[in-house]
Amino acid sequence: MRYSVFSLARAALNGHKSWPQAWRDHALRDRYRVIVVGGGGHGLATAYYLAKNHNITDVLVLERGYIGGGNVGRNTTIIRSNYMLPANEPFYEHSLKLWEGLAQDLNFNMMVSQRGVLNLYHSDSQRDAFARRGNAMRLCGVDAELLDVDGVRKYAPLLDFDNARFPVQGGLLQPRGGTVRHDAVAWGYARAADRLGVHIAQTCEVTGLVIEGGRVAGVETPHGRILADKVGLAVAGNTSLVAQMAGIELPIETHLLTAFVSEGLKPFIDGVVTFGAGHFYLSQSDKGGLVFGGDLDGYNSYSQRGGLAEIDHVLTAGIAMVPAMSRVRMLRHWAGRMDMTMDGSPIICTTPVENLFLNGGWCYGGFKATPASGWCFAHTIAAGEPHPLNRDFTIERFRTGRVIDEKGAGPRPWLQ
Ligand SMILES: Cc1cc2nc3c(=O)[nH]c(=O)nc-3n(C[C@H](O)[C@H](O)[C@H](O)COP(=O)(O)OP(=O)(O)OC[C@H]3O[C@@H](n4cnc5c(N)ncnc54)[C@H](O)[C@@H]3O)c2cc1C
Repeated sequence: MRYSVFSLARAALNGHKSWPQAWRDHALRDRYRVIVVGGGGHGLATAYYLAKNHNITDVLVLERGYIGGGNVGRNTTIIRSNYMLPANEPFYEHSLKLWEGLAQDLNFNMMVSQRGVLNLYHSDSQRDAFARRGNAMRLCGVDAELLDVDGVRKYAPLLDFDNARFPVQGGLLQPRGGTVRHDAVAWGYARAADRLGVHIAQTCEVTGLVIEGGRVAGVETPHGRILADKVGLAVAGNTSLVAQMAGIELPIETHLLTAFVSEGLKPFIDGVVTFGAGHFYLSQSDKGGLVFGGDLDGYNSYSQRGGLAEIDHVLTAGIAMVPAMSRVRMLRHWAGRMDMTMDGSPIICTTPVENLFLNGGWCYGGFKATPASGWCFAHTIAAGEPHPLNRDFTIERFRTGRVIDEKGAGPRPWLQ
């Protein structure tokens, strides 16, 4: 069924009992042309673009949990393309352009809201660094505006502009940045991929990779072996564990990142605002809750439960930026597993195992990348070589030293 105002009206007339399942369950075949491991945003987008852009519909997506249960449904929903380095900026801008038409393309409303993303600066040197990044963006044809303090006051009046330690001096605004309802992205891609013939299997974990003569031949699951010509890994926080099944050691550490939502409030803040004097960012969901987050927990874990120290740190930074937050009650918080690379940039590439492809290392910025990641990974799998946009996202870069260190933080994944 195509979603439209007419299908909505028809369903309303019969008490919304006629909606079909958004995607189907299929009996698994013994063999597929491509298996994508991981039914998060990136895996499902990859399956969709394999079918749509490359006419490869004999595709199986294997998800060990349920669709939307991974980081794609755990993040704080921010999309943007405010990068500086030439390896990153065109890739993230391609993603933002895909977001702009995605609801129409997938026939699924994922509430893309280009409400703006503003990074605050609090010192002259930070202003200069932001001006440099804004100029690099504009040279790539991407929107960027450097605001002075009065510009920020108009945009987000509730900030503490005269904070004794961190007075706000201005901010770098990307007006086309914003938010997208995160789990709807997984549902939209799953439904659209299903309509093109892709099979999606939930609660089906990949427990091993079948490798014969240096070439991948399929995967092992609790339901038995499934063969494939090509296998793509898109398992986000589990990347290093699944890659180990192929004997590949990755320069990735797994850390936790916590997200927070407050009680619902009347309109409080229009866009996304990030603090420049600590790691804190804030937006408001359409339901009224403040959605915010901050830094990693700083130790390795697969638990998906953040620690108290980081909760304290995030709330302290939040109140320093917006003192009115001290009166707001928290509703809930949760954490996701971050596959942190040593330079903070992702990996989309071929691997030493023939026909095994790798997508990972998204750190805590992979949600905004979902469309471009799927687009480029599908190309890499179909063609057997990278798309020009992901040419630099290799694993060799960590050996050769051609790292893409956007933050200049060095090989310290907890600082990226
Ligand atoms: C709190 C938080 C806030 C964030 N905020 C932002 C943000 O504002 N903007 C942004 O751009 N990014 C953000 N991120 C990062 C972003 O969510 C991730 O980088 C991105 O979602 C990862 O890609 P994915 O959607 O494919 O991951 P996932 O949804 O995690 O998909 C991977 C899937 O692989 C499955 N899997 C793992 N192992 C196996 C196996 N062996 N067999 C089968 N399936 C397997 C998992 O169950 C999972 O469903 C945030 C993350 C968190 C946790």
